[in-house]
Amino acid sequence: MSKIKVLFAAAEAVPFIKTGGLADVAGSLPYAFDQEKYDVRVILPCYTCIAPRYRSQMKDVMHTVIFFNGQDRYLGLRSLELNGLTFYFVDNEAYFGGSGPYTDYTYDIEKFTFFCRSVLAILPIINFQPDIIHCHDWHTGLIAPYLKTSLSWDPFYQNIKTIFTIHNLKFQGLCSREFLCQVSGLPWHLFTEGPLCSGSGGNMMKGAIQYSDKITTVSDSYAEEIKTPEYGETMDGMLLWRSPDFCGIVNGIDYSIFDPSSDPSLAAHYSASTVSRGKAASKAALQKELGLAEEKDSFLIGMVSRLTEQKGLDLVIPVLERLTTKPCQFVVLGTGDYQYEHTLWEYAASRPDRMKACLVYDEALSHRIYAGCDAFLMPSRFEPCGLSQLIALRYGTLPIVRATGGLKDTVIPYDKAGNKATGFAFENYDWGGISWALDNALDTFLLRRKDWNAMRQNAMKQDYSWTSSAKRYEALYEGLL
Ligand code: ADP
Repeated sequence: MSKIKVLFAAAEAVPFIKTGGLADVAGSLPYAFDQEKYDVRVILPCYTCIAPRYRSQMKDVMHTVIFFNGQDRYLGLRSLELNGLTFYFVDNEAYFGGSGPYTDYTYDIEKFTFFCRSVLAILPIINFQPDIIHCHDWHTGLIAPYLKTSLSWDPFYQNIKTIFTIHNLKFQGLCSREFLCQVSGLPWHLFTEGPLCSGSGGNMMKGAIQYSDKITTVSDSYAEEIKTPEYGETMDGMLLWRSPDFCGIVNGIDYSIFDPSSDPSLAAHYSASTVSRGKAASKAALQKELGLAEEKDSFLIGMVSRLTEQKGLDLVIPVLERLTTKPCQFVVLGTGDYQYEHTLWEYAASRPDRMKACLVYDEALSHRIYAGCDAFLMPSRFEPCGLSQLIALRYGTLPIVRATGGLKDTVIPYDKAGNKATGFAFENYDWGGISWALDNALDTFLLRRKDWNAMRQNAMKQDYSWTSSAKRYEALYEGLL
């Protein structure tokens, strides 16, 4: 029996390029499919900022020229096999050069439109005809519209099905419709009659929602939330209309990478049975590394996040006093909006024994924070799924979250679920909500240590590996074929 061929298309994938959870999903979910039944490959841009140790291993597959946005453009394809999985890289240095994957927003629209066009142009040349192209987020939003409109006459593409996964509805690939029409080369009527425009602008994600055979998002709660005007970012009507083909499938994490018993970044290794000792050693090492007061009884709270409004920074700033007054300590690792970086930096500088702000992207340090902290703060305004709380659970670090989207689906709150609890959650997005949850967590840590330790065991026993979610994707694929 021939295998089902699936092509993942995404702007990021670990270990090559990562700015957030999208990369974790695109680089780890493909390994979770039944290898006997599925031939899954991944395609992403060949950014020049991908680490040389990976770039040097890439092999040239082909190169050609395509006519795009009024000019002939170089289009190369490179590939690399990693642990049995083929990754393809769309090469064009003019588009994918620079120090990071994203640059100026308008330029990003053009370069990811080029990426969408290229993914489809390459397939017949390398003679790979996927049964399904699984597209992720707005960067790949034009793949389904191309297939269903300008390429629909071509037998090579006619049987290819598409799935579009929304990792974050906030980012839709918006621009002027004249510009999107010009760069994409798609017919103008798509930009005047609905599928690719919202209001008077062009919208790449809307095209994907309209034309994909199935649409998914990354948790059940977020799937429900974004069908309402409050969370729907103007797409709620479309998503309601597509409800029969739209569902939530919760993300997982790669348990071989996020494993406190073998993680090479950690000072001490531990499992559920040795968590007390292992965490104490990890916490002491982290306090030392960060220059915090080396107090074993302090309540060390961590945050690893993009520093944006979405992640609840406007709630965190007003509670910094609470987070850094004895016996609490706070470490934040993240990059993002200048005003948050500046405030966190200033505050940390004024009390270096109680708070550290690491305003960088540092994968290894993030692992030491997940391992060394007692609790993990994630007070998101909205959260499609969230991977950080899943990593925190895996490392026995109890999440303190706002009950929204994937956070609601993956953290069992202390006050409600008694002996099953894995963390702390608050409902209302306000100062009172976060303060209540922080106090609840601190009191439990200090005064109800038995409960705390039981929750830590519960947390570490949760299974958020990809196994069950991959099965749900497989069912979706098989339903489509
Ligand atoms: P989002 O994708 O919305 O940014 P997620 O919680 O889904 O949020 O995923 C964030 C991922 O990025 C996690 O793996 C987290 O550990 C990682 N991450 C975020 N910021 C940093 C940082 N500054 N350094 C290292 N890892 C980071």
